[in-house]
Amino acid sequence: MINITFPDGAVRQYEEGVTAFDVAKSISEGLARKVLAAKVNGQVWDSSRPLKNDAEIKFLTWDDEEAKSTFWHSSAHLMAEAVESMYPGVKFWVGPPLEKGFYYDIDLGDNQIGEEDLKNIEKKMSELAKQNSQFIRKEISKADAVKYFEEKGDEYKLDLLSNLADGEITFYTQGNFTDLCRGPHIPNTGTIKGIKLTAIAGAYWKGDEKNKMLTRIYGVTFPSNKELEEYLVLLEEAKKRDHRKLGKELELFTFSEKVGMGLPMWLPKGAMLRERLQQFMQKLQVESGYLPVITPHIGHKQLYVTSGHFEKYGKDSFQPIKTPQEGEEFFLKPMNCPHHCEIYKSSPRSYKDLPIRFAEFGTVYRYEQHGELHGLTRVRGFTQDDAHLFCMASQVKDEFKKVIDLVLYVFKALDFQNYTAQISLRDKEDRSKYIGSDENWEIAEASIMEAAAEKGLNTVIEYGEAAFYGPKLDFMVRDAIGRKWQLGTIQVDYNLPERFELTYIGEDNSKHRPVMIHRAPFGSLERFIAVLTEHCAGKFPLWLTPVQVKLLPISDKFMGYAEIVSQKLKNSDIRVEIDDRSEKIGKKIRDTELAKVPYMLVIGEKEESEEKVSVRRQAKGDLGSKTIDEFIQMVKEEVDSKAVIE
Ligand SMILES: [Zn+2]
Ligand SMILES: [Zn+2]
Repeated sequence: MINITFPDGAVRQYEEGVTAFDVAKSISEGLARKVLAAKVNGQVWDSSRPLKNDAEIKFLTWDDEEAKSTFWHSSAHLMAEAVESMYPGVKFWVGPPLEKGFYYDIDLGDNQIGEEDLKNIEKKMSELAKQNSQFIRKEISKADAVKYFEEKGDEYKLDLLSNLADGEITFYTQGNFTDLCRGPHIPNTGTIKGIKLTAIAGAYWKGDEKNKMLTRIYGVTFPSNKELEEYLVLLEEAKKRDHRKLGKELELFTFSEKVGMGLPMWLPKGAMLRERLQQFMQKLQVESGYLPVITPHIGHKQLYVTSGHFEKYGKDSFQPIKTPQEGEEFFLKPMNCPHHCEIYKSSPRSYKDLPIRFAEFGTVYRYEQHGELHGLTRVRGFTQDDAHLFCMASQVKDEFKKVIDLVLYVFKALDFQNYTAQISLRDKEDRSKYIGSDENWEIAEASIMEAAAEKGLNTVIEYGEAAFYGPKLDFMVRDAIGRKWQLGTIQVDYNLPERFELTYIGEDNSKHRPVMIHRAPFGSLERFIAVLTEHCAGKFPLWLTPVQVKLLPISDKFMGYAEIVSQKLKNSDIRVEIDDRSEKIGKKIRDTELAKVPYMLVIGEKEESEEKVSVRRQAKGDLGSKTIDEFIQMVKEEVDSKAVIE
């Protein structure tokens, strides 16, 4: 008999060789039907794999991310089975799960598959799924595995095998398809019901353009058709909100191949929005005791040798800039921290000076491959709302609490209501891979958890996810359509103070190392604006939106009065534009609504004679006529309250 321990601590005895599925079944049939995989002593396993020793187990159902990954990876196998049955002789490279769905890279040989064939493959997948084939795991010797794929003439799987050791190789078979795979998999194909192949693209083998181009088919699957339908609706909504599309329509930013890929340029309206976000953060930071600093866009190679970035990233980043005479080498700044360390060092520091908080909207440059670039979310040049806090270990908790306040204020002002804090700590088992003293780590880890608890954050703790140089807290935000984004990181760092030999004079009159904390509530302005644009579907809150009010004169006759109104609003710091086109008022209203301008003021005969304006609010409609002063008052109140409409 073996002891099975459940997440609630309960222990039950089972026969040796029992499977997680059997265990679930012994609890209830309903549970067994829902179990897609099991976590056994922290590892995800097939629910059909026999348990030979005492184990802690947790059942994984569709609600668990790990179960979804297992489900999608199994769906990749199902797709491969379908493709192989329709196009015999094709060969497969790898088919991993994605955050949403899966893909498989395929060498089609002489076959051609296009967009139009995806429907048929989906159909075949459905047919095969209905056969309810089991995913059967088999441990196999390396020699037998090599023999199998040699006979198949499959150089891709042989390549994968060459990197595997004997004794760790497994095959998975479902129906007529066998794959080299470490698993795990769901019990059978029958649970895969809603099937959609979403895209087909070329992908170089191993991502190297010198290699053969394979065909990558993307898909997503669900345990029911209803869930697939809901997902497709969400995809449509996401398309409408795509920041690349809205960025163009709202004239926020542009790209030019001549300037360079992945280098966004901000158009006047986008620049205004960005400046406003920047001012918003600067004001908060001044109130929180931050000191502004400004550093150059490049740094001497020696700076990055000291920081360790040169050794770690030198080859994979933009190459050095050389001076013609002295032969000096400079790098584009990939982060602001090394510069800020040197600012810290520019004068002696005492414990009385700490914490010191240096803030900079620092523009940094990082090399990304063409294929990785995406709108404003993956770029080669971006501006961080960066700050580095230098403090004593005893101050880490308070500093975290202050940064959490700042982040929560940002979320509130921009209507991000759904978030959790993810705290990344050391691996419980192996503490040798971390730099810094055990004592400092203990203090920092406890400080972060206490700070999060005292601020009432909903937290998830991830052991082993800390960087080698310190623990951190990330905010994970769900946007208006439920997608997850990581925003706002607070990271402790024991490495850079060491490398830059930063010190302060303590109360005991001797030198100590300060703790360094990196923090960026927005992350980067580029990515943040992308996320925000998609979150609010381009309808930015009034305090932030580039154009707050559009004046719509009914005809040219009222342009004079429109100018007077415009001037008055401008004098009150309201951002206003006049629609001076000779269009019908109905069209002007429609266009303004499309441009997502929050307020429209219709101006005609009656308004001019009464010295009033007729007010329309985006999404709310007609608010009646008001005097100009009343309207200014109303806008000011909405701006000051940072209210969010809808
Ligand atoms: Zn696999
Ligand atoms: Zn930093």
